[in-house]
Amino acid sequence: MLAGGAQATESSDSLAASNPFARPSTLPYQLPPFDRIRNRDYDPAFAAGMTQQRADMRAIAENPAAPDFANTLLAMERSGRLLDRVSLVFFNLSASDTNPEIQKLEAQLAPQLAAHRDAILLDPQLFARVDALYRQRATLDLNPEQVRLIERYHTNFVRAGARLAPAQKDQLRALNARIAAAQTAYEQRLLAANNHGALIITDVRELDGLAPDAIAAAAEAAKARGLAGQYLIALQNTSGQPALTDLNSRAVRERLLAASMQRGWQDGDTDERALITGIARLRAERAQLLGYPDHATYALEDSTAKTPTAVNAMLGRLAPAAVANARREAVALQQAIDAQGGGFQLGAADWAHYAEQVRKQRYAFDEGQMKPYFEMRRVLEDGVFYAATRLYGITFKRRTDLPVYHPDVQVYEVFNSDGSRLGLFLADYYARPSKRGGAWMNNYVDQSHLLGALPVVVNNLNVPKPPAGQPTLLTFDEVTTAFHEFGHALHGLFSNVTYPLFSGTNVPRDFVEYPSQVNEMWATWPEVLTHYARHYQSGAPMPQELVAKVLAAQKFNQGQATTEYLAAALLDQAWHQVGPAQVPQAAQAEAFERAALAKAGVAFAPVPPRYRSTYFAHIFGGGYAAGYYSYIWSEVLDADSEAWFKRHGGLKRENGDAFRGKLLSKGGSVDAMTLFRDFYGAEPDIRPLLERRGLSGVGDT
Ligand SMILES: [Zn+2]
Repeated sequence: MLAGGAQATESSDSLAASNPFARPSTLPYQLPPFDRIRNRDYDPAFAAGMTQQRADMRAIAENPAAPDFANTLLAMERSGRLLDRVSLVFFNLSASDTNPEIQKLEAQLAPQLAAHRDAILLDPQLFARVDALYRQRATLDLNPEQVRLIERYHTNFVRAGARLAPAQKDQLRALNARIAAAQTAYEQRLLAANNHGALIITDVRELDGLAPDAIAAAAEAAKARGLAGQYLIALQNTSGQPALTDLNSRAVRERLLAASMQRGWQDGDTDERALITGIARLRAERAQLLGYPDHATYALEDSTAKTPTAVNAMLGRLAPAAVANARREAVALQQAIDAQGGGFQLGAADWAHYAEQVRKQRYAFDEGQMKPYFEMRRVLEDGVFYAATRLYGITFKRRTDLPVYHPDVQVYEVFNSDGSRLGLFLADYYARPSKRGGAWMNNYVDQSHLLGALPVVVNNLNVPKPPAGQPTLLTFDEVTTAFHEFGHALHGLFSNVTYPLFSGTNVPRDFVEYPSQVNEMWATWPEVLTHYARHYQSGAPMPQELVAKVLAAQKFNQGQATTEYLAAALLDQAWHQVGPAQVPQAAQAEAFERAALAKAGVAFAPVPPRYRSTYFAHIFGGGYAAGYYSYIWSEVLDADSEAWFKRHGGLKRENGDAFRGKLLSKGGSVDAMTLFRDFYGAEPDIRPLLERRGLSGVGDT
């Protein structure tokens, strides 16, 4: 089975042939056969998948032949196909279309999968083979991608604890299982807390200020929950909520913000406090077991930032300037309140409402004027896709003949300029109670030459669904998010690597946001904006003066936006830059949060952190623990690259091809900062970022 290649591990004796995961999908691009997948198919497929991969790994470990690249690294890269197939579908759907059965299974699987991973990475025989190859790598006559594969495997084994003594490995296994279980419990509680926290309004007059389509959507959402005749404002992930902008009633705004900010802090079924403190403590214990003072030091070692010192320096440099900007903005908002005889002091629930008024005054336009020009399908096809076609020559064809997991999902086939096939793109843009909050990209199939696989990628957004027959009109934020997520999608689609480990977005966490942020620049690029921003009824292009206002208003409110982001990033570091003894008990979680914000100089009540600890899924659900700083860290590279595109003539094939060829296609096959320098031609420069965020003056030291 080692020399035999990918096919050798494709069938499983222990899994019924009728199970939709038993064999690779025969659909185009190996799209999962969603129409055949039932809840009951997952559990046996996971069980067989884990058994199979463990058997593969045992065979590699016990191979009597001396380790070489093919019998160890290639064999490991080829292992686990069944487990991959079922995992990719399961974890995509547990995020975007879950149900009680999936949730139950997820809770059972989390510790099993952690144990499975440990069984491989803590296997001394496997590590001995990887370690032997690692030591010989310079003399093995391998190409650079192969050498890097050895190095990454070695790093992954070592960081997972391969060098620990047997007793410590047992402790580590136990910690990993507990962390996995706690993270899953946290995510599930958060979904419940979000749904539970939704604001129910019985009297439509309380919604005064909301646009008619938003009121209709709220009525629809209430009806879907069996509350016909009432109105439901669902909670978005963040502290701030979109409806705060338009709601005229201060009391309702305050209720909505309170519902958002109290998520997970109250006793009962949705209380997250014990989970977040427990997760932070377990992670700190694990870090110490692995020889690090805290989780941040451990996590950052494998990032481009490298150390907490570097992250703290960057955040510490930006925070004072951002807060000073936010305070200046608050003065203008208070003036607006006073001018109307409001008679109250600006609070967090008022910020968006009065910011919108000041913005209207200063730039003479409002969000409501823009929305009719941002019809969802048009934004996607004539904006997001159009920019990609101009930059990379790729084209898109809608496919309605392929099965999807939810009727709201749209499938597009993507082609290179020479007509060759590139991959599939799934757009899942609508919110629903079964979908977690926020926006994200993921893969259903990872590109790799080794396995002969082309990519299947998905973008998830949480756009409120309008009543049947009504158009879906996006906010400008949602438009930007669509471009952002498609930047990740391009990173996945353009992947042109040999080994699955390096596919697409498998790059350091503080690098992965960089290509997606670059793609945001095309949302306001004049040729792109005029192409997609057309009135949904008349088809008329957005008037030039409105376009000019959109562009002019972009720097508005940056103090608030930067401050709320930095506050969350600093909070993340605070939770992860402490040893286990310093992690607070559940009852002290709120005091810990408050102290952390005060210490970092970002405690400014009108601008709460973008996420409070209890609903900070980026860090407590997994993924971005000690890594939420990544967005602004990546933004340095993004701002530099945007300047590069502008210097080189903007929206042009040559520019897109350079970005694709030197960076997007490489995935993780080359060191991330080397890729950046190859593309950009220089070391990163922080000044364009400071300029963009209105923070100039702090960075020129
Ligand atoms: Zn992103």
